[in-house]
Amino acid sequence: MKPPSAFDRSYEDWLSIFEEIGQPSYRAGQICGWLWRRGVTSPSEMTDFSKPLREQLASMFDFTPPVIEDESRSGDGTRKFLMRLPGGAKIETAVLKQGDRVTACLSTQVGCPVSCPFCATGAGGFERDMSRGEIAYQLVVMEKFLGREINSVVFMGMGEPFLNTDATLGAVRILNNPKTRGLGIRHMTISTAGIIPGINALAESGLGVRLAVSLHAADNELRDELVPCNTSYPLDELIPVLHEYQRATGDRITIEYAMFKGKNDSLDHARSLVRLLRGLHSYVNIIPANAVTPRYSRSLPRDILRFQSVLKAAGFESEIRVERGREISAACGQLKRDKAS
Ligand code: SF4
Repeated sequence: MKPPSAFDRSYEDWLSIFEEIGQPSYRAGQICGWLWRRGVTSPSEMTDFSKPLREQLASMFDFTPPVIEDESRSGDGTRKFLMRLPGGAKIETAVLKQGDRVTACLSTQVGCPVSCPFCATGAGGFERDMSRGEIAYQLVVMEKFLGREINSVVFMGMGEPFLNTDATLGAVRILNNPKTRGLGIRHMTISTAGIIPGINALAESGLGVRLAVSLHAADNELRDELVPCNTSYPLDELIPVLHEYQRATGDRITIEYAMFKGKNDSLDHARSLVRLLRGLHSYVNIIPANAVTPRYSRSLPRDILRFQSVLKAAGFESEIRVERGREISAACGQLKRDKAS
């Protein structure tokens, strides 16, 4: 049987592991430094361990990391990576650059079961959940490849994070722990299609990660079409949960609204959104959509501006997302469109 993955171990796990094999506790910090700071994935290169200890670790754990198989770059600095996970499954991830901020868009599942009709990942079907180590280690693999630090993370790549909640929150904890990667908790955002148990779990976790919700429609009929998990978690249940989340955490919630021509971009749609979000401290991210089927095309710039003006007049903070990575299919909704499929 294959040994368990070294990347799924937290700092606390390593403390117990080294205690069990009669090693001092500082070894836990050393191995986390090798794996999560330096990106060294072979025990034979962990030079502050004795040779017998290196061999023991290599026999106890699988140190096979995700591997970058292909890379595309766009003119705006966006990089898209095709990664092969141990076992052969393929995922896509992206890195976006805005000034000094470098953001990794991490995947949480191989494929996605939500099947939003405009999304390349959804169209490719669902293969499996990723483990917490696989999710978190995407960051280190990309940092090593780029030769620079990534300073923020959005769980917004392939998959629905809250259909794999334990692993996603586990990845957040590993990335946040100062002994492993030490990424600030406020530099991480989980983006969900509105899976209520996951939102509740995040509130209960007390982690303080930022929350984004992909709404895309302000009435159930349209949202059932655009975000099919709405049939299980309809707006009349979701919105009260967001209010509850806000009461518990005090955090502003980002609302993602992808705009499709003639579908959800009218003045009436904007007014419905205003009514739906009233009383919720939110920030609306308007996304000029990157649909992958001819059924859904991008809204006209003038309609997007008109939509935003309704939000502004009602006092909502909003922005029209500056599109990045479109020519390499790394923009929102495009991951997995090409090579991983
Ligand atoms: S938009 Fe998000 S939730 Fe919907 S199918 Fe794509 S990856 Fe899944």
